[in-house]
Amino acid sequence: DASLQKEVPPEEKGFKGHDMLAPFTAGWQTSDLHPLVIDKSEGSFVYDINGKKYLDSLAGLWCTALGGNEPRLVAAATAQLNKLPFYHSFWNRTTKPSLDLATEILEMFTARKMGKVFFTNSGSEANDSQVKLVWYYNNALGRPNKKKFIARTKSYHGSTLIAASLSGLSPLHQKFDLPAPFVLHTDCPHYWRHHLPGESEEDFATRLANNLENLILKEKPETIAAFIAEPVIGAGGVIPPPKTYFEKIQAVVKKYDILFIADEVICAFGRLGTMFGCDKYNIKPDLVSLAKALSSGYMPIGAVLVSPEIAEVISSQSNKLGQFAHGFTYSGHPVSCAVALETLKIYKERNILQHIQSISPRFQDGIKAFSGSPIVGEIRGIGLILGTEFTDNKSPTDPFPSEWGVGAIFGEECQKRGMLVRVAGDNIMMSPPFIMSPDEVDQLISIYGEALEATE
Ligand code: PLP
Repeated sequence: DASLQKEVPPEEKGFKGHDMLAPFTAGWQTSDLHPLVIDKSEGSFVYDINGKKYLDSLAGLWCTALGGNEPRLVAAATAQLNKLPFYHSFWNRTTKPSLDLATEILEMFTARKMGKVFFTNSGSEANDSQVKLVWYYNNALGRPNKKKFIARTKSYHGSTLIAASLSGLSPLHQKFDLPAPFVLHTDCPHYWRHHLPGESEEDFATRLANNLENLILKEKPETIAAFIAEPVIGAGGVIPPPKTYFEKIQAVVKKYDILFIADEVICAFGRLGTMFGCDKYNIKPDLVSLAKALSSGYMPIGAVLVSPEIAEVISSQSNKLGQFAHGFTYSGHPVSCAVALETLKIYKERNILQHIQSISPRFQDGIKAFSGSPIVGEIRGIGLILGTEFTDNKSPTDPFPSEWGVGAIFGEECQKRGMLVRVAGDNIMMSPPFIMSPDEVDQLISIYGEALEATE
């Protein structure tokens, strides 16, 4: 995405780099290119430091679901800061907002009954905590060898050591000595890219479930602890599963007594047009990770939902050991929890799910209408999440030469016209705020169309 940021504002000529070691950024970008400095947000838009306005088609980083200036969230944070800016949740001391938020989340998650909520500060910490919870659980059950995790190629689960290991994207592994040896990766469920000639979506799903089963048998089922999946792969390119995929995968996982972890960090709270991704695909998880739209991105917070059975084992084991020795200073931070509680309240009061359902066909159909473009390989998405993959000859096996930077050019054309999209190689991703108006959806589609034409 580097070329998106080449324009140096006149008053900043002579820019000599900045002092931040920036996440997911190349060194030359921060030394040679002025960063895009975002200064203000308003509804579905953000403004840069020079006052230029952009439609924020990624909702920050898939998170600012309620847009950029929701006064109730500011008020909730301010009220909590004034009353109790911090207290922790260790040793059976805690705060009211964290207790209330745990109850609220358990009530909202109905794909299956969950037992307890563990709070973290991020999605990565949630997925890291998943591994520790599962290991603790299996140790408690006297199965010390049941420790391996199976994740999927192209998945993204975060960037701490364990979350990066679970992720199936090679840049997160290269030069970091990852993935950790207890993590195995199975197929990415991308039908367009990986199906065999003449293979239906259902047959493709069956083949992937068989591959998973073969991997489990090869590694020995008694060594596999859990399977982790995003209902729709997000950062890996927005990849919804093929028909019948989760039904078949869940059957395999269940057969070998392997826990199912749903990473709902992007999918939860309406993104797919259902309250949770698990609702969309009839997933009955043992554990769930949440973050991002939980607080509409206004405060850092993540959460792990634990099934009643796992919660019970952890609780009785910790009775023997004295404590469940895992947690963070800011687990259940009262300001984050107060903001998250208000966020969930707004989702309900404004019936945000219904709004998402009403605008997503306009969004999906509007963008998918460009599928005929000669540079578009595939446009895929569901609800308010959408990915575009550019390829030559409309073929999954014919990528454009990377030095052409087709994705980056498209991103730049969008940015020129006042819209920010996520660019990763020749994949473009969008996950707009839940509050988008129909007019804003039309604006997004029109900028996308103009940028596409300019890129062709
Ligand atoms: N899981 C998924 C599915 C994500 O998309 C992300 C972030 O994009 C994470 C986990 C990691 O979350 P965080 O960046 O808050 O650590």
